[in-house]
Amino acid sequence: MKKHIVLLPGDGIGKEVINSAKDVLSAIAEEYNLTFSFETHEIGGAAIDLYGTPLPDTTLEACKQADAVLLGAVGGPKWDQNPSHLRPERGLLGIRKALDLYANLRPIKGFKNLLHSSPLKEEVVSGSDLLIVRELTGGLYFGTPSERRENGQIVVDTLYYSRKEIERIVDKAFQAARQRRGHLTSVDKANVLESSKLWREIVEEKKAQYPDVVVEHVLVDAAAMKLITNPSQFDVIVTENMFGDILSDEASVLTGSLGMLPSASLREDGVGLYEPVHGSAPDIAGKGVANPVAMILSAALMLRYSFQLDQEAKVIEDAVEAVLDSGFHTADLQVAGGRRVGTFEMTKLIVDYI
Ligand code: ATP
Ligand code: MG
Repeated sequence: MKKHIVLLPGDGIGKEVINSAKDVLSAIAEEYNLTFSFETHEIGGAAIDLYGTPLPDTTLEACKQADAVLLGAVGGPKWDQNPSHLRPERGLLGIRKALDLYANLRPIKGFKNLLHSSPLKEEVVSGSDLLIVRELTGGLYFGTPSERRENGQIVVDTLYYSRKEIERIVDKAFQAARQRRGHLTSVDKANVLESSKLWREIVEEKKAQYPDVVVEHVLVDAAAMKLITNPSQFDVIVTENMFGDILSDEASVLTGSLGMLPSASLREDGVGLYEPVHGSAPDIAGKGVANPVAMILSAALMLRYSFQLDQEAKVIEDAVEAVLDSGFHTADLQVAGGRRVGTFEMTKLIVDYI
């Protein structure tokens, strides 16, 4: 198998952790006889400095030609005062839109050795291993026009979804559930919202196509509570844009550090953008201490969801788990009796394990 991957390091620790992903992928390629070619381009603040725009055409074109894109992180204090079209985040929004990445996948797992890093009780977090599938390009955040009337005393936001938009995200979630433990929780507010009623109808219709998946509907308020009282009851959660935004941040506390959380954003044909959930972390950038795990696990998601290399993805995930289990950890994690290492050493441990 031959795949072409575009690397977008971006800013801050993005530049550091992207190398970790590349090293891990090279190790996988060598071990499993795969060919990955890499091409690096600027995005975000780095692109503003070089080309005067956060998303240069050359970057966008390269991403359109690629089999998958790996992104580090964008942004930093240097560009905070820029006008809105010259903010690093523009680059990211632009690329998501240009590639039509409508499905956002965030796996969240309570790693054995890190359970006490979570603010929740160990026995609650223990055994949690879930995937949130969030619709990313519709709903309230894209309901135009959002407006103010009557001198700003009345405000209007519109929640818009089409059947097609719901069907494609629900399909992605069913497929993901099939690759996992076969359980799907659809989260909505169908007792109140018309969009949620259609959402629920479509999930019910789709069930017939995926008889091997067990489906359950949970209202978003109840889901918010269950996520932190009994997270291990969930396998795959599928939900609309805003609910997914809120629930995925809530669920991130299960893991204990932002530095552990990967994400995937997918298009219908499987092309995807993979990035850590964390930002550019200007406070620790350039020091070689960033946790590379979120970026490395993002590369594993790329193998699974864009290249159908489930075994190889699992090898990376197992390697991460084994290294953490033996007590090695970066500064953002606390592991009793473990050994603290930097970005490079953490990466090398994972590569050696592979
Ligand atoms: P953004 O606006 O881009 O989301 P942010 O300021 O909200 O950025 P981050 O840049 O993710 O958030 O940083 C939040 C905190 O988490 C910082 O203190 C940062 O050092 C820490 N952090 C984030 N990612 C990592 C990582 N990979 N390893 C260690 N610490 C991290
Ligand atoms: Mg943030």
